[in-house]
Amino acid sequence: MSDLLQRRRALLGPNVSTFYADPVHIVRGEGVWLWDAEGRRYLDCYNNVPHVGHCNPRVVEALCAQARTLNTHTRYLHEGILDYVERLTATFDDPLKTAILTCSGSEANDIALRMAEAMTGKRGIVATDATYHGNTTLVSHLSRSNVPEVGFGLAGCVRHVEAPDSYRIDDPEGQRFAAHVARAIEELEACGIGFAALIVCPLFLNEGFPTQAPGWLRPAAELVRRAGGVLICDEVQSGFGRCGSHFWAHQKQGVTPDIVTMGKPMGNGHPVAGLVTSPEIMARFRGSFRYFNTFGGNPVSCAVAMAVLDELEDKQWQQHAARIGRLARERLQTLAEKYEVIGDVRASGMVFGAEFVRDRRTREPAADCADRVVNAMRERGILLSKLGRHKNTLKIRPPMPFGEDHLDLLIETLDEVMPGILGQP
Ligand code: PMP
Repeated sequence: MSDLLQRRRALLGPNVSTFYADPVHIVRGEGVWLWDAEGRRYLDCYNNVPHVGHCNPRVVEALCAQARTLNTHTRYLHEGILDYVERLTATFDDPLKTAILTCSGSEANDIALRMAEAMTGKRGIVATDATYHGNTTLVSHLSRSNVPEVGFGLAGCVRHVEAPDSYRIDDPEGQRFAAHVARAIEELEACGIGFAALIVCPLFLNEGFPTQAPGWLRPAAELVRRAGGVLICDEVQSGFGRCGSHFWAHQKQGVTPDIVTMGKPMGNGHPVAGLVTSPEIMARFRGSFRYFNTFGGNPVSCAVAMAVLDELEDKQWQQHAARIGRLARERLQTLAEKYEVIGDVRASGMVFGAEFVRDRRTREPAADCADRVVNAMRERGILLSKLGRHKNTLKIRPPMPFGEDHLDLLIETLDEVMPGILGQP
């Protein structure tokens, strides 16, 4: 292990992050399970990219079959991308019926910002103060966690607004959030930059997936439209049925965005991502920017992405996610009754977690407790992580085949590690 760490440092440079105090060396995956180099098995409660299961046979077969036949790019005619975009856009409401395929969520968000500029002629972007939207020069300026200290991009054009936090901030209908957005828009207009777009993950997943009533985002969405801006929903994490109640989380929020970006689960690990928008916005973008992506939308990527949709449909994973999310909430709630340190429990389909606090009255975050739980669970063969505005919320976001027996194992193991966590300084 230390040999691998040393090689990483020498070959990849310093500050390349790993998970856990004792990093895991994974060599094989299947369904919701991962195996390390010593043959130890781990329950994967973290990875949302292998959406329909690690090494899903149908996806792997689709990839191999197309790779054996042809792989080129979109400057040649091919049915693959057309069949896929037809099938993908059928999951969206009108007018979201055209797409661009890319290789990463960051690229998709980068294009979305350029589309907003093409539509409005302005560059001002509003995002939350606890978000992450990617790693290109342009979109890295949106993220609070990794604001670049040098570089070009959107510097000066971004206004961050308070991220929702259902546990601490009283905003049951999204009016307070909308008011923050309104102020940011006014400021952008007043200083001459002008308002182009609001970009949000409709589950606010990186922010800690707050509990929200359906339609919570509507007041902010209406405001954006009134101000002549574009609403971008970043569904890189929240899409493809994960939220359980809907295929896309913006549908749960009761809004139709102008642009929806997606990635991670789309290719089950194969790098395919993209965005969906209206024909009008697409035409404006295509008229304003010359855009080509060598790997985006190639026949292999499209075959893989199509197999993911087939699996989702045949196995009804969205409905399954809704059921497991309900059970997970109940089971975590039972743990919260036992352990004072769990201040809040949240679940939205196959995304669930618990927020750790020092004291339930003050709700002071206890990120160190979340850290200790994450590492203790890893020692017991369960992989999960933490996130949120205060980095104190367990992030449990497994592949969709995660079932009731896996949930039992997760909860029993949490129950085993919790007393030890509390006993530590
Ligand atoms: N948007 C969101 C909400 C994300 O969570 C991420 C990745 N964590 C991205 C965009 C960037 O996607 P990628 O890493 O594929 O560029």
